[in-house]
Amino acid sequence: MKVMKFGGTSVGSPERMKNVAKLISGQGCNLVVLSAMSGTTNSLLQISAKLDAGDKAGAKQQADELEKKYESVAKELLSKDESLIKAGEIIASIFGEIREVIDGGSDSLSEKKIVSKGELLSTNLVTLYVNETGVKCVLLPALEFMRTDVNNEPDMAYIEQGIKAQIAMHPEAELFITQGFICRDINGLIHNLERGGSDYTASILGAVLDADVVEIWTDIDGMHNNDPRFVEGTSPVHHLQFEEAAELAYFGAKILHPTCILPAKERGVPVKLLNTMDPEAPGTTIDRDMQGPAIKAVAAKDNITAIKIKSSRMLLAYGFLKKVFEVFEKYKTPIDMITTSEVGVSVTIDNETSLADIERELQQFGDVKIDRDMVIICVVGDLEWRNRGFEAKAIDALAQIPVRMISYGGSNYNISFLIEGKNKVEALQSLSKHLF
Ligand code: ADP
Ligand code: ASP
Ligand code: MG
Repeated sequence: MKVMKFGGTSVGSPERMKNVAKLISGQGCNLVVLSAMSGTTNSLLQISAKLDAGDKAGAKQQADELEKKYESVAKELLSKDESLIKAGEIIASIFGEIREVIDGGSDSLSEKKIVSKGELLSTNLVTLYVNETGVKCVLLPALEFMRTDVNNEPDMAYIEQGIKAQIAMHPEAELFITQGFICRDINGLIHNLERGGSDYTASILGAVLDADVVEIWTDIDGMHNNDPRFVEGTSPVHHLQFEEAAELAYFGAKILHPTCILPAKERGVPVKLLNTMDPEAPGTTIDRDMQGPAIKAVAAKDNITAIKIKSSRMLLAYGFLKKVFEVFEKYKTPIDMITTSEVGVSVTIDNETSLADIERELQQFGDVKIDRDMVIICVVGDLEWRNRGFEAKAIDALAQIPVRMISYGGSNYNISFLIEGKNKVEALQSLSKHLF
């Protein structure tokens, strides 16, 4: 079995949905994971933000407009009366639920309830269409089996049991579709896997089903060697090792959700990145194979905050780092980069929620200095330390840019540089010029 995931642009219009139906039909009884139509998640978040701001009328008006859009998508997509009636009922019911949330007012769950509707809409419509084409396609409700655990990590055992039970209920099925992104939390409340989370759903399901491959279909022909939004002339990387892909995803390559490679990597399920607009393009294959020393790609992670703790007490003191790390642990704030010297340590975080508390507690250990709006530039490849020259090349490419931190040796797969946000585009362009 394959798990095939299609992103927002790939299901972004009735025409694109029909194209997806072609790509998923006649390929065997696979599991297809769909995102919301492009623009819908943003629109649902705007509706929720209006509700949070007390603007119920504005929220309702935007919901009405979105509903009209879906009514016309259904009309363009479907041709049989029976499926048109069914689509009309589903759309009315989903938007009815959105209006109920709006009427109920903003609370801790209202955003999650509203934003979950995007994937419910797209999957219902595509399932109706695929069935119209004569393929027996069953929609599996992700909210019945996708769940996070007490640590807010996917509950793999629960998911495995749930999806297998759902599949077993439909021996007649020729194809399965389910929602990406949405799930429930440990208490059964509506939840999600964060922006771009449909990739993560696909990888989790590929892992628990021991799929032959997880195919991530998107709007570009694979992982490029630099961010195509900022650099011209980037080109696809045809092969990546799991760790290389995981580093690129975590450090900002938007084509993949930050942690989506991990489940596939753990169970050794290969991942392919493919282009819906150009299905014949080879794309990128991600698996366990290592293909020789090389710098493969660079990526950038925005909105990074650097924290430097400087203390003469660090000199010759054991236990200093432990105390520093305990502060971050206490405030559940992951650290991305670390560099140390004789008298200090610098770390970076990408979540400022508890920054004030962290800063206050760190001050008991020494002087604390904070730099905001920084960017991590991550150079990825097979950079095993005995391979000479790669660090020099990367540093050389950044010769004109002020560098705040450099980190290498945590893995064999990346060299990271911390620079100011305003220098990001110049840094990415210069790396492309020097490295590829
Ligand atoms: P989807 O909606 O299919 O999940 P995304 O918008 O999340 O698609 O991801 C695809 C986009 O990621 C591309 O259109 C491209 O602009 C962006 N991107 C950023 N970095 C890279 C990279 N290194 N390689 C390919 N695409 C990248
Ligand atoms: N629809 C969600 C988002 O826009 C999830 C996804 O597309 O992967 O973030
Ligand atoms: Mg995405």
